Amino acid sequence: MSDLYKNLIGGEWVEGHAARPNINPSNTKDVIGEYAHASRGQAEQAIAAAKAAFPAWSRSTPQERYEILKKASDEILARKEELGRLLSREEGKTLPEGIGEATRAGQIFAFFAGEALRLSGEKLASVRPGVDVDMTREPVGVVGMITPWNFPIAIPAWKIAPALAYGNTVVIKPADLVPGCAWAIADILHRAGIPKGVFNLVMGRGSEVGQIILDHPDVTAISFTGSVSTGRKVALAAVSGTPMKKVQLEMGGKNPLVVLDDADLKTAVECAVNGAFFSTGQRCTASSRLIVQDGVHDKFVDAVVERLKGLVVDDALKSGVHIGPVVDQSQLDQDLKYISIAKDEGAKLAWGGELLNRETPGFYLQPALFTETTNQMRISREEVFGPVANVVRVKSYDEALSLANDTEFGLSSGICTSSLKHASHFRRNSEAGMVMVNLPTAGVDYHVPFGGRKGSSYGPREQGAYAREFYTVVKTAYTLPV
Ligand code: ADP
Repeated sequence: MSDLYKNLIGGEWVEGHAARPNINPSNTKDVIGEYAHASRGQAEQAIAAAKAAFPAWSRSTPQERYEILKKASDEILARKEELGRLLSREEGKTLPEGIGEATRAGQIFAFFAGEALRLSGEKLASVRPGVDVDMTREPVGVVGMITPWNFPIAIPAWKIAPALAYGNTVVIKPADLVPGCAWAIADILHRAGIPKGVFNLVMGRGSEVGQIILDHPDVTAISFTGSVSTGRKVALAAVSGTPMKKVQLEMGGKNPLVVLDDADLKTAVECAVNGAFFSTGQRCTASSRLIVQDGVHDKFVDAVVERLKGLVVDDALKSGVHIGPVVDQSQLDQDLKYISIAKDEGAKLAWGGELLNRETPGFYLQPALFTETTNQMRISREEVFGPVANVVRVKSYDEALSLANDTEFGLSSGICTSSLKHASHFRRNSEAGMVMVNLPTAGVDYHVPFGGRKGSSYGPREQGAYAREFYTVVKTAYTLPV
């Protein structure tokens, strides 16, 4: 019998009404542990605990908040290899990627430890004589968080750390598929001395535990990352109750990487391979649409295929592996479905797309590259969320820009070019929240805002100092000193 990892509610570790095994996608015989599912009643208790803890925590000093977040950061960084290994074992990204993400989580906690000390307001002279006007930021209240499986430690970190730094209390429901890293953060915060009820972890299904968080009137704000269809439900639930909740959604992408004739070919190939296929393509910022100009198209495709042939797809924990497994059977089914849709639409499979057998039973898929695609095909319009990308051939920069923007999404976009004119024009005219020049569309800094436009995001940005737009509420105070 493997270990049981419990929920953290009101400062106590509690068993749930059920438990689910956390399974390694590189080896489905390897069970990381059993993770307790919170009952609906327990989710309500967690919200009540967060509500009860809010008055004291919201008035805690920045120094108290700094110390807890800094302690958490120190421990995450000291244990980054072990946590990275846990991450790779539960999610399937390679060990260097897992350690990189754990490191990122530690950096995020350090950044927001500092932000707790830096929160400032503004003061203006009133238009009325003798009156002072002050604008200050206050915490929002109980923040509910619902996180996806593809970044099991970074996404919880970039929601939890700012929420706590600015004086909110938290109820988080991590993805059912990968609760291990969120549990580790809960354990670290608990031992770092976070007061009872300030931080609560409730694991389980979205439709059960997640739904309670969405519907409960005592949850003041919801931060969600996941699919577009669930995101829409989150937004509707957030405004259907009284009071309406503040809401922040990060959802899908169909991110274009434009490669112009004048691009440095080596850079363009690296951007494409990294952006489209690393982390098994399971990133909302993945470059899944490669929009390539005619003059370089064939050379680019040949070079990408050569690179793909050399990539090792295997157990995420083995050294020398470039691409780990797909996260689970249902995601693998979705990837295979899109590979077959693309073939049916008339796209040409330039490389890959085969299921692979390895020493251990896992969800191994060869990265797939399609050519001869149009921007109207489903493979160009719908998010696959796997190691699958397609190339659309264009004649000019203008056509490339127009296709890049012809999508319902707008998370990130990229261009590979040596032309300052085209790079500058693309930066200004790309309808995406994040624009990359000669860099992969995935891979961002943690101290600057993250988020998209159009169907990719809704509400204020995450990360960096901009995170306070969501995690604080502004108060305008007028004073007449008499
Ligand atoms: P993905 O599984 O692709 O990451 P989902 O949108 O299905 O995207 O899941 C993201 C998060 O939303 C997960 O934690 C999931 O459990 C949760 N979730 C799914 N359905 C609901 C729902 N109806 N209410 C609240 N949370 C949900």
